[in-house]
Amino acid sequence: MSQQGIGMTSQRTRERLIQRLMDQGITQFEVLEAIRSVPRHLFVDEALAHRSYEDTALPIGYGQTLSQPYMVARMSQLALAQGRPKKVLELGSGSGYQTAILANLVDEICAIERIKPLVERARRQLRTLRIRNVRLRHGDGLEGWPGEAPFDLILGAAAPERVPPILLEQLAPGGRLILPVGGEQQQLIMVTYSPDGFVEEIIETVNFVPMVKGVTR
Ligand code: SAH
Repeated sequence: MSQQGIGMTSQRTRERLIQRLMDQGITQFEVLEAIRSVPRHLFVDEALAHRSYEDTALPIGYGQTLSQPYMVARMSQLALAQGRPKKVLELGSGSGYQTAILANLVDEICAIERIKPLVERARRQLRTLRIRNVRLRHGDGLEGWPGEAPFDLILGAAAPERVPPILLEQLAPGGRLILPVGGEQQQLIMVTYSPDGFVEEIIETVNFVPMVKGVTR
């Protein structure tokens, strides 16, 4: 089936996905609209496109996965809970799917990915979708992007062992870090830079790929 063909037949499966996300507590209209409007099938291999509106993670090559829609929606909803973040740092942009969702919800995104071919593929996809408020860089997210800091939101799609202090330093006052942390057992955490300092909340148990130091060509 052609990509376009899948796009047509997927209308119903897309609606089913939206319904499923609503049943799981995703209620924010903007988030649901973003998921409805971004064609997830364009971010996976054609051979897997027929599964792109299932609520599962899918392989994108290089041992990495495209995040599960529920997780993308959950993190986006957390990100928007205190209003629309202006400047966002995304770590581990992978296929660019979550980046495309976020691009609908915030003003400006700086995104970092450590695997070069994924950066190139994501850049092409974002261009195809005419998304223009994203700057995507090949680099190590564990260092953040000091030259662009501070950020209202830092969001990671890969898990370091613990919260890297260097990322907290790049938060704007009132800003938030949403990140999976841990090894075997991971927790999604949210750190808020409040007037009293950094306040950490545990959101839920999650399962992301590890955040790995350094870059690959
Ligand atoms: N949200 C992405 C998920 C990609 S999986 C999507 O929708 O496709 C997580 C990504 O984090 C992988 O592509 C992996 O290469 C990347 N990653 C892991 N460690 C990283 C690091 N230190 N810096 C940047 N990216 C990293």
